Amino acid sequence: MRKNILLTILFLSFCVSTLCALTLYELNRFAPVQVAFLDVGQGDAILITEGSYQILIDGGPDGRVLLEEIGRYMPLWDRTVELVIATHPDSDHIDGLVDLVQNYNVEQFWGIDLRRQTNVFAALERNLRNREVLVQYPERGWHVLLPSGAKLEIIYPFVAGDVVGFADEPNNASIAAIFTTADEKFFLGGDLHSAVEDLLPIDRSVTVLKSSHHGSGTSTSQYFLNRTMPRDVIISAGKDNRYNHPKDEVLDRIRRSVKNVYRTDHQGSIVYRCLDFCTVSHD
Ligand SMILES: [Zn+2]
Repeated sequence: MRKNILLTILFLSFCVSTLCALTLYELNRFAPVQVAFLDVGQGDAILITEGSYQILIDGGPDGRVLLEEIGRYMPLWDRTVELVIATHPDSDHIDGLVDLVQNYNVEQFWGIDLRRQTNVFAALERNLRNREVLVQYPERGWHVLLPSGAKLEIIYPFVAGDVVGFADEPNNASIAAIFTTADEKFFLGGDLHSAVEDLLPIDRSVTVLKSSHHGSGTSTSQYFLNRTMPRDVIISAGKDNRYNHPKDEVLDRIRRSVKNVYRTDHQGSIVYRCLDFCTVSHD
């Protein structure tokens, strides 16, 4: 009798776990690709997800805000971010990552092989070391392929570690990437200035362009807009920020060339959800 009960319990557990596994498989199979430009105040944080696979590009200036925002776009049960990319070690891009590495399992970390002598940078390095996260320095051509075929490809730096003028202009060390889905192509260039942006191998197939350096006058030149001809421009900036980003002159040239301009300081997080095609919303 006791043996029968045990067998029934075992059988039921097997059924429940099989059902859970199948449900997760199905959820992942039909999961849309999602690109979320998170509203983290004055900084950048871009979360790319497909099912249980996540890439986070930068973490904004505040860990508490980042974790709150990420919680809105990641499944509750998922505590792993497969890849974190820190475009460059400025505080409005990496400070939030200290808390992220403490609260999530990070499988891989891509950064630039250049250090910043700040307490936060030291804390981030310590957390990465303690958690035994694989740290690498990508260069042009490195890429990640998601199950749907969507692809994140690094286009800058051209050679890892070879960043000219970092001491004078750290923003020009930013890792730049193109993320391609079935029908969209996103340009994500950290805080690059025009001196580098205008040299990038890029063409008019870009559809969504994140304005580098939060819409600062240093970036998103008319030349760059003419070369890329995006349909949408995203500006990631904090409400009433002390740098007065985005600058009027940049907004003017963007508005002259581009159909849609979305701003995290006005609209909150901007989210593209792509199944057969992408729809954009802000919340
Ligand atoms: Zn920045």
